[in-house]
Amino acid sequence: MIPAPPIQIPAELGARLQQLFGLDDTPRTLEELSDLVRRHWLKNLGNPRLNAHLRATYYGREIFGNVNYETLHRVKLADGRQVHTACALDAIIEGFFLPLEIESTCFHCDQHVRIRISKGAVIHAEPSSVVVWLGTSKGDSCTCETDACPYINFFASQEHVTDWQHRNPNELGMTLTLQQSLNLARKGWWEPIHLGVASIQFAADETATQNRSKTAPPSWGH
Ligand SMILES: [Zn+2]
Repeated sequence: MIPAPPIQIPAELGARLQQLFGLDDTPRTLEELSDLVRRHWLKNLGNPRLNAHLRATYYGREIFGNVNYETLHRVKLADGRQVHTACALDAIIEGFFLPLEIESTCFHCDQHVRIRISKGAVIHAEPSSVVVWLGTSKGDSCTCETDACPYINFFASQEHVTDWQHRNPNELGMTLTLQQSLNLARKGWWEPIHLGVASIQFAADETATQNRSKTAPPSWGH
């Protein structure tokens, strides 16, 4: 089998993604972006506040990318919770933590978009041609919430992206298929968070076991 060719990231977009996501290097391909985001998480998981937040997300108490203002992207969980996420990718990432339905609209024409994800796999996508635009603002401003999130959106299809680009020729970004977005979410976000939370849980369990054995030695034995 011939391996798929790497998916190139335009140089200007790569530089902006490096700035906005705090990456060690400039990603030139989608695969490099996944690796760099993954490394970024693995490096930062020791931060206690971030770790507490990610643990809460991992165990379903918080929702990844949840914001307290209205966005195009609404995430509906099986237990009835409904929240907005900052961007399309955040909604997809949350789909690795809990089964959900994303309701959004095509950024070009307001056409309804509905995607169901469970365990990081798409079980329903409407329209089936839906794609993700991974974009950023131009310039030097580096706040994820204003310079990346509003630029990461669903489109009904690549044709809608192309029509939109004709009207907005200065937009910086690239199209990802839904599967490419899921791959990025899995490798860049889900796997390192899963690994990080699991290893810290393991360390906590070890400490708890040691403490227990100090105070109350187990009575079983030979
Ligand atoms: Zn559209």
